[in-house]
Amino acid sequence: MDVSSLLDGLNDKQREAVSAPQSSMLVLAGAGSGKTRVLTHRIAWLMQVEQQSPYAILAVTFTNKAAKEMRERVEKVAGSNMSRMWIGTFHGLAHRLLRTHYKDANLPQSFQILDSDDQLRLIKRILKSLNLDEKQYPPRQAQGYINGKKDLGLRPSHIDAGGFPIEQNLLKIYQVYQDSCDRAGLVDFAEILLRAHELWLNKPHILDHYQDRFKHILVDEFQDTNAIQYAWIRVLAGSTANVMIVGDDDQSIYGWRGAQVENLHKFLGDFPAAQTIRLEQNYRSSANILNASNELIANNPDRMGKKLWTDDKDGEPIGLYCAFNEMDEARFIVGRINDWQDEGGKLEDCAILYRSNAQSRVLEEALLHKGIAYRIYGGLRFFERQEIKDAMGYLRLISNKNDDAAFERVVNTPARGIGGRTLEIMRTTARQQELTLWDACVRLLDEKVLSGRAANAVRGFMDLIVALRVDTEEQSLHRRTDHVIQQSGLKLMYETEKGEKARARVENLEELVTAARSFVVPEDLEDMGELNAFLSHAALEAGEGQADEFTDAVQLMTLHSAKGLEFPMVFMAGVEEGLFPSQMAIEEGDRLDEERRLCYVGMTRAMQRLYITYAESRRIYGRESFARPSRFVKEIPEQFVQEIRMRTEVKAPAVSTRFGKQDSAFNESGFKIGQRVNHPKFGEGTVTNYEGSGAQARIQVNFLDVGSKWLVIAYARLEKK
Ligand code: ATP
Ligand code: MG
Repeated sequence: MDVSSLLDGLNDKQREAVSAPQSSMLVLAGAGSGKTRVLTHRIAWLMQVEQQSPYAILAVTFTNKAAKEMRERVEKVAGSNMSRMWIGTFHGLAHRLLRTHYKDANLPQSFQILDSDDQLRLIKRILKSLNLDEKQYPPRQAQGYINGKKDLGLRPSHIDAGGFPIEQNLLKIYQVYQDSCDRAGLVDFAEILLRAHELWLNKPHILDHYQDRFKHILVDEFQDTNAIQYAWIRVLAGSTANVMIVGDDDQSIYGWRGAQVENLHKFLGDFPAAQTIRLEQNYRSSANILNASNELIANNPDRMGKKLWTDDKDGEPIGLYCAFNEMDEARFIVGRINDWQDEGGKLEDCAILYRSNAQSRVLEEALLHKGIAYRIYGGLRFFERQEIKDAMGYLRLISNKNDDAAFERVVNTPARGIGGRTLEIMRTTARQQELTLWDACVRLLDEKVLSGRAANAVRGFMDLIVALRVDTEEQSLHRRTDHVIQQSGLKLMYETEKGEKARARVENLEELVTAARSFVVPEDLEDMGELNAFLSHAALEAGEGQADEFTDAVQLMTLHSAKGLEFPMVFMAGVEEGLFPSQMAIEEGDRLDEERRLCYVGMTRAMQRLYITYAESRRIYGRESFARPSRFVKEIPEQFVQEIRMRTEVKAPAVSTRFGKQDSAFNESGFKIGQRVNHPKFGEGTVTNYEGSGAQARIQVNFLDVGSKWLVIAYARLEKK
C-alpha cells in the first residue's frame, strides 16, 4: 500500500498525528473523533514510511478484543504480517514478559493466574487461619486493600501500618496471602503488573534488552491507566523511546479500580517534548446524539476541555422510554430490536448496555423468549461459571499440584468425606510449616496425623489427581478434559442434582470439552504446553471470545466494557437514580462525575439510534425498589429527546409521567399498575391497565410470552407475584 493511502480517510489533524516526525505525542480528543484510527494508522506509518520493524513496536489496548482488531486493522493497512509486534492489554503483555523471564521474576515455569473469584476464596481462607472475623474484615475489602496496594507498586515491606490495628491486620493478611501465592506459583491480576514492573527495576539487563528493542510505544485509552501501568511504560520508555498516547479525560471510568486520569498530566511532565494534538470532529454519531452527549458531560467540573462537532445530520432524537418495571423495559427493548430486524437491520449492530451485571438476566430471558440470539461480553462468562471453574480446578491441579487455589476448590467437590476439620488441619499445617496444601497433605499422611477415615479420604483424593495426570498425559486436550470431567466425579455430581440449573451445568461441562477441542494455542502462548496455554487462555480471555462469534447476535455488556466500541443502535437500560448513578456514587459525591463520564461513554457508543430506558419499579439483587429517572436523563436537553409513549395507553387513574411519581392505587381489584402477575396459561406478565368495576372489572396484562391481553378479573385466576 502506498504512503498516500495511509493518509486517506483522515482529516488534517489526524494526518498531522499520523505523519508526525518520530517523537512522543499526546492525542487528546473526545469520543468517536478517530483516536483509535489514528493510532492504527500511525503504526502502519511507522513501518511503511519510517521503516520501523514491527519488532520495535509495542502497542497497548484496553481489551484483548481491541488488540485483535487492531492487529487485523494494521495488517490490512500495512499489508504485512504483524506477528512480531507486541500488541495486547497491559495484563496480556506483562504476562507474556513474565512467561519469558519466569526465572528472573522468581516464578515457577508453570505459574498460573489467580482470578478475582479465586483470590477472594483464598483471602477468606486466610482470614480463617488468622482467626480474623469476616464481619470486621470483609473479604472483599481485604481484596481491595491488597489489589490497591499492588496497583500502587507496594509490597507488604513497603507499607507502614503505623499504630492502627485494622491496618496492621490488613497488612498481615496481605503478607500471608502473598506468601501462599508465592508458594503455590500463583499470580493475581495486579501481581502480573507489579512483577513485570519489578522485573524492569531488578534486572537491568532485561530492561536494557527491551529498551533497545521497543523504539515505539503506543497506548490507547490512556486515561484509564493506573499507577503501576504508567510506571511500567515510563521505565520501559527510558529516555529514548517515542511514546504516543491517545485518550480522553471525559472517558475515564476506572477511577474506582485505581486508574489515574492525572497520568495524562504526568505524561506531559515526564515527556516534555511531547506534542499535544487535539481532534475535534466526531465521525461516529448523528448530531443529536453527539450534542446531547456534549451537554451531559458539560455538567462535570475540572475537564481538560474539548470541542467536538460533527457534520453529520441531526438524525433521530434519542428515544426515552419509561417502563413499569424491568420486564416491561426488556419487552420494549426486544420489541425495538424486532422492528430493527424487520427493517433489515443486523442483530450485531444492536447493543444493550447496563450499569450492573445483574441487570442482564431479565434482558436475556426476554431475548430468549423471542428467540433472538445474543452474546454477553463480560459478566457471567463461560469460564467464570462454577462448574467450569471446578473442571478447570482439576486441570490446574494436574498441571501443578501446588496450585493451592485449585486444590481448595476441588478437594471436596464432589464431596468425598474431606470435612471442614480435616481442611482446617491441612491449612494450619500448610501455614505453620510454610508448605503448599498438597505438600502439607503429604506430611500429614507421613506423620499419620489424620484419623483413619480422613487419611483415607485425603489419600484417595491425591491418588485421583496423580491418576488423572498419569492416565491422560499422552491424550489430546479435549480427551483429557473429558476424562477429567468424568473420572473426577464432577459430571456425575451435577447429573444427580435436580433442576434446570444443574442441567445447564452439565451442558456447560460438555461445552468445555468442545471448547478444548476447538482450542488452538494462540501464537503468543506457543511456548507453553497445550494444557497450560488452555488454562492461561481461560483466565485471560474469559468471555471475550465467547462461544460462536460468527452468529449474528445482539451484544449485551456493561457500560464499562463498551468503552472504545461503537454500534448503530444502542440501548442504555436502567437509567435510574440508585442504579445509574449507583447508590454508592450518590452517597460518595465525588464518584458522581465518574458515573456521568460513564453515561457519556455509553451515549457516545451510538451511531444512529440511541434509546434510554428506565423503570419505575425494579426487582434486582433480590428485592423490589421504586426509582426515579436518573439525573442524567434530566441533564439531556429536551430538544434532543423524544419520549416514547406506552403502546398500550394507560388510562386513569394511573398516570405515568416522565418525572412524576405514579399514582398506582388500584382500589377495587387489589391489583396495581405495574404489578407482576402469573396466569396459569399465559404465564408471567405485568398489569398495565384496568377498567370497569365489580363483576365487570377487566384488567389488562402484558404477558412476556403472548403480549397484551384484557381479562375479566373475576375469571382470570391471576396470581400476584
Ligand atoms: P473512542 O473515544 O470512543 O474510543 P475514538 O476517538 O477512538 O473513539 P474511533 O473509534 O477511532 O474513535 O473512530 C470513530 C469512528 O469514526 C470509527 O468508525 C472510525 O472508523 C470513524 N472515523 C475516524 N476518523 C474518520 C475520518 N477521518 N473519516 C471517516 N471516518 C472516520
Ligand atoms: Mg478509541
